[in-house]
Amino acid sequence: ASSDALERALGLIASIPDHPTPGVVFRDLTPLFADGAAFADVVDALIAPFAGRFDAVAGLEARGFLLAGAIAMRTGAGLVPIRKQGKLPRATEAQSYDLEYGSATIEAHRGDLPAGSRVLLVDDVLATGGTLGAAIRVADRLGWDVVGASVVLEIDALDGRAVVSGDGAARIVSLF
Ligand code: AMP
Repeated sequence: ASSDALERALGLIASIPDHPTPGVVFRDLTPLFADGAAFADVVDALIAPFAGRFDAVAGLEARGFLLAGAIAMRTGAGLVPIRKQGKLPRATEAQSYDLEYGSATIEAHRGDLPAGSRVLLVDDVLATGGTLGAAIRVADRLGWDVVGASVVLEIDALDGRAVVSGDGAARIVSLF
């Protein structure tokens, strides 16, 4: 996609002040997803840095699922969900991480992918990095070869990359 096309897609992302709590600016990608051309441009841009280098795409619940499905279809890669705790029915690897208040846990099935699978992680927004950092730990424990992470936008002020430990941070691509 051209940079003009990506700028148009960026312009479709809504910003909702004080949602879901005061002080948070929620970035809502649903208008972008609703625009077929913009969605395709963004999906292609998420793929491009890693094209030909992954066997499967792992989507982070929930909006990462929407992107992962499209990336899988566009590239022929498989798809695995990384879910909030308690949704997956079989044995999982799980990882907890801190939230501003309390903590959260995400998990992925053991055995959906063989160890050594080359996996691209995908989400819509990188904020504090807690979710992506936990996803990388789950992936490592499952023996996946994480080739990188693609997100549509990152909230620079939160410096989520710093939270994603090791060399994982170097392989995070954010479109905006
Ligand atoms: P974090 O773990 O803080 O990096 O948060 C990442 C997850 O929370 C992603 O799955 C995002 O979809 C969601 N998220 C966090 N902050 C925002 C925000 N300001 N706008 C939209 N989604 C957000």
